[in-house]
Amino acid sequence: NLPNIYVITPTYARLEQKAELTRLSYTLQHVINLHWILVEDSYTKTPLVTRFLQKSRLSYTHLNVPTPEEYKLSDTDPNWLKPRGVLQRNAGLKWLRDNFNPSSGKGVVYFADDDNTYDLHLFEEMRFTRKVTVWPVGLVGSLRYEKPIVQDGKVTGWYTFWRPERTFAMDMAGFAINANLLLEQSEAKFSLHVKRGGLESEFLTSLGVTLDDLEPKANGCTKILVWHTRTEKSSLKNEEKMVRKYGKGSDPMIEV
Ligand code: UDP
Ligand code: MN
Repeated sequence: NLPNIYVITPTYARLEQKAELTRLSYTLQHVINLHWILVEDSYTKTPLVTRFLQKSRLSYTHLNVPTPEEYKLSDTDPNWLKPRGVLQRNAGLKWLRDNFNPSSGKGVVYFADDDNTYDLHLFEEMRFTRKVTVWPVGLVGSLRYEKPIVQDGKVTGWYTFWRPERTFAMDMAGFAINANLLLEQSEAKFSLHVKRGGLESEFLTSLGVTLDDLEPKANGCTKILVWHTRTEKSSLKNEEKMVRKYGKGSDPMIEV
């Protein structure tokens, strides 16, 4: 009985959503004892995601919660202005607090955005998390990677350009937590009201974690096993032109 990995993924409707979810689900299908908590940023569970999950062959929970309009990033905002996926991750945490039973086995929680790229070895690195495991993240912070600085097996600081003085200067993809921590710290959650780059650090602080609790993984934080990839927005500029030129555009019944 290996510990279960609970992956919490916020997701929102956009042209590229199904492509992202397809790639992520194919990664997760290779990991044993994994439960996917997919949380839609929406007022209702959408038919696209509902059907997608039914066909996925994964053990999953489908949740939804909308981000209030005033907390949504608009197309013209710089991407660091507001944190994304906050209420969705919190909904995942609430589901775990209601459903995770420590007497039926150990659990690990990982926050996996839908657009990142995950090496399968990452999941085995996090599986035996005692409190909090940490590792480098590639292609983030306008650097080749960001990483915890490790000395004699302990995290002593952060290799990041931006605000390395943050208590936990990590991207969301850079850590996993033991599920018991959620039960011990029943109020810990993500906040909508954090300053730039403070989301992860303030969450881990609310969990009552200290630097000393961090367990460096990925060969002493020297291996990149996750990449903060971002998908280019697809253009639809020929859709209208198609109609004008040929009198017929794409079939709305074909799901993309
Ligand atoms: N997300 C969301 N609602 C939004 C924007 C993003 O639920 O309005 C999700 C998104 O699907 C992803 C996570 O939040 O799983 C992080 O968003 P994104 O990848 O856009 O952030 P970035 O990579 O720019 O930090
Ligand atoms: Mn992303």
